Amino acid sequence: MECDNNRRKKIRLVATGGTIASRAAGRVATEGYTPSVIPAEQLLKDLPELSERMDVSCEQIFLKPSSAITESDLFDLSERVNELLMSDECDGIVITHGTDTMEETAYFLNLTVKSSKPVVVTGAMRPQEVISSDGALNLYNAFLCAESDLSRGMGVVISMNDLIISARDAVKFSTFKTDAYQAPLYGVLGTVRNGQVDYAYRPFKRHTENSEFAGMKKTALKRVEILYMYEGCDGMAFESALERGCGGLVSAGTGNGGVIGHIMKKYNDAGEKEAADLPILVRSARVPTGGVSGAYRKETPGGLRVIPSHDLNPQKAYILLKLALAVTDDPSEIKRMFEQY
Ligand code: ASP
Repeated sequence: MECDNNRRKKIRLVATGGTIASRAAGRVATEGYTPSVIPAEQLLKDLPELSERMDVSCEQIFLKPSSAITESDLFDLSERVNELLMSDECDGIVITHGTDTMEETAYFLNLTVKSSKPVVVTGAMRPQEVISSDGALNLYNAFLCAESDLSRGMGVVISMNDLIISARDAVKFSTFKTDAYQAPLYGVLGTVRNGQVDYAYRPFKRHTENSEFAGMKKTALKRVEILYMYEGCDGMAFESALERGCGGLVSAGTGNGGVIGHIMKKYNDAGEKEAADLPILVRSARVPTGGVSGAYRKETPGGLRVIPSHDLNPQKAYILLKLALAVTDDPSEIKRMFEQY
């Protein structure tokens, strides 16, 4: 679709809650606030500068802390975003969200949104009303980002702390600092500086319009569990996941995706028949950067069910594995997906 750079854009806020919608107990109380209480209309009212540049509107899809967001909420959000973006009345979307699981929601949208129009996720590390709250400027910058033609085709991005980060690469890196969102391995795509949106890079991996999950409708996804690896780990969580049944597992492995011997033996030794009963195991890493290579994959029937996450962290690998299992059980297909997304 042609776009006119000079036209006044129509940008919609879809608000979900988080610290950006939270009230502080006092001007210097950066923590211990009342979470997710400020409605979308109020967030826009507090930023009259926006309507000098663009037409803004808003809706509240839910109002909750991000750790309470469910799989069903993710589909509701994605379906709503797709519906809005199909209309000529919407040129781009800003989503406000708690920062705790923002990277998961943003990556889910990066895989399921079916449009090249900008989708920008933002939030805050400090509640509104405290001195030096980051909420208002983050929101303002996210609108500038969603309004900019430069953001078209970039996939879903997170705009926080003056940076623009691909949803795929964004990782929450601090529990309290305003520069919480980083892209440790590949770096940021661009910046928003003094009202100016600037990109230096374009994402290479498949996303949005070019994703085979784009436009996916709400469906009950297979259960996937994340297993954390550590000194002394004895595989109890693994055995319990097998007993209770799940479609897939993601390991948050040590170093280059190390998984305890007990689990690897089960996979490597499994013959054709036993292998078919083992959930797909995606090896990710608890290490914040560097990813996981395919070096330890065994060419046995069970070993072929073990797939490297490459540079997706455990929580992002979880999202991709859930969507992958909705369309295929074939380990080689799932391996391809982890290479492409
Ligand atoms: N502490 C969170 C935030 O930064 C709360 C949440 O994720 O909802 O927004």
